[in-house]
Amino acid sequence: MLGQMMSKPLLISSLIEHAERYHAEAQIHSVNTGGGIEETSWGQVARNARAMASALTALGLEPQARCGTIAWNNRRHLELYFGVSGGGFVCHTINPRLFPEQLVYILNHAEDKVLFIDKTFVPLVAAIRDKLEHLDHIVLMEGHDAEAEQALPGLKFYDDLVASGDPAFPWPELDENTASSLCYTSGTTGNPKGVLYSHRSTVLHSFAVNFADSISFSAADIVLPVVPMFHVNAWGAPYACAQVGARMVMPGPGLDGPSLLGLIENQNVTVALGVPTIWLGLYGEAKKTGAKMASLQRTVVGGSACPPSLITAFREEYNVDTIHAWGMTEMSPIGSVNRPLAKHGDLPVEEQHKLRENQGRPVYGVELEILDESGAPLPHDGETQGDLVTRGYWIVDSYFRSSTEETLENGWFHTGDVATMDADGYVTIRDRSKDIIKSGGEWISSVELENIAIAHPDLADAAVIGATHEKWDERPILIAVKAEGADPAEADVLAFFDGKIAKWQVPDRVVFTDVLPRNATGKVLKRNLRDEFGKILLG
Ligand code: ADP
Repeated sequence: MLGQMMSKPLLISSLIEHAERYHAEAQIHSVNTGGGIEETSWGQVARNARAMASALTALGLEPQARCGTIAWNNRRHLELYFGVSGGGFVCHTINPRLFPEQLVYILNHAEDKVLFIDKTFVPLVAAIRDKLEHLDHIVLMEGHDAEAEQALPGLKFYDDLVASGDPAFPWPELDENTASSLCYTSGTTGNPKGVLYSHRSTVLHSFAVNFADSISFSAADIVLPVVPMFHVNAWGAPYACAQVGARMVMPGPGLDGPSLLGLIENQNVTVALGVPTIWLGLYGEAKKTGAKMASLQRTVVGGSACPPSLITAFREEYNVDTIHAWGMTEMSPIGSVNRPLAKHGDLPVEEQHKLRENQGRPVYGVELEILDESGAPLPHDGETQGDLVTRGYWIVDSYFRSSTEETLENGWFHTGDVATMDADGYVTIRDRSKDIIKSGGEWISSVELENIAIAHPDLADAAVIGATHEKWDERPILIAVKAEGADPAEADVLAFFDGKIAKWQVPDRVVFTDVLPRNATGKVLKRNLRDEFGKILLG
């Protein structure tokens, strides 16, 4: 016997439809790529999204045709999230920081038919245009622009398309398992791999973002997604904000400390999302200017391990709660979120704070397990570490143009992270499995050493790698960037580890460098550091 409740498909159009109906006036503040500011609203975003869906349909695109975007976080990009997917096409967000060859690979692999670009990316696209095998239309995300048209003959213009479309276009009734959006992993090893999200997985993920014990946007929030919209759909924030009618502040291309601080202060931002380096920049700027960030209640930090010193500084100096979350492109991305349990209220305050430092617990909809090398589950004792695997409603089943057999093992997706899990399900990511250091048969977590180093007042940035060692196979070494105006000695930095970890885990050397190499999503390229410094302990 089947249940007798309405069966409505879970569609991305339902999110924007809700925002349009019940939060039409909620403001969207957008810093545009050209530098101008625009004030719009969910109601206007929804009408433009409908118009875009109708214009794309009129262009004669096949259902699920891939429409690429190379753009910063701005209101037109927000409209595309809903207009492209809601219209039954696939919104393929592309990271502009990739190398041109990777861009060509991704655009051809995805068979993008349309490419929407911000004006800053005109030269980038003009340089690779001839190599894009499936592309029929390039659309500049602005009004008419003669200069851009000259660089890209045949160029179309976003505002013309919207003006030609129907702002009351009815959203098509799709199967909820229809593909909605596509995002490629950054591909630090091998070619990038595509993760093809569905309407259903996106809407379910959006509910999970909004759980009270997750990120929990609300209609009373003013949300600043610093995490780019080309980076796992800005962690799902645009969908989740539409779902609850939260106001949004789209930061455009300026992700530096002064620009973000200005937005937070002027727009009364209540919650902001981004990777740890962004918050380090913001913190430095706030210290310098004496800004109070009075409206800011919480930040959501993920993408790499958040240094505990940063969590403490935001809490103690700005009364901001840092929500540490973990996930990946293959997980839409939310896997675990650090929020307290009722029983923690009885603990001494310092212990409560300590418990907020790890990557948190799985949200409903995601299962996490740690396995040993044979695939057997390991104890959840907070100490035993193993390969972190996952399965759930918004986890990849197979990469785009690949099979489940090639993607999963016994039904689990292997994250490539090494983690511990405690009895309450709190996960601590110890390392990427390829970055963990094996010294004399013992494991050393590079993340743990980095968290200590970054708290040193004279260091601005830090990464730890395993360097080849004659006796111990590998020993940790610290690659550090000095803080502006500071000149710490190696011995002084090493002394900072005393009493914080076991002596044998303290790095053997400190190498100072000007800047750490990072990949397109802002993660430190440890492979490059190993190539450069991996042999310095030999001979
Ligand atoms: P994202 O795009 O969300 O950064 P990626 O797919 O590029 O996701 O990278 C995912 C990887 O980033 C994870 O497997 C993990 O190694 C790392 N990561 C993400 N969040 C955290 C975190 N909070 N702490 C430690 N590592 C993290």
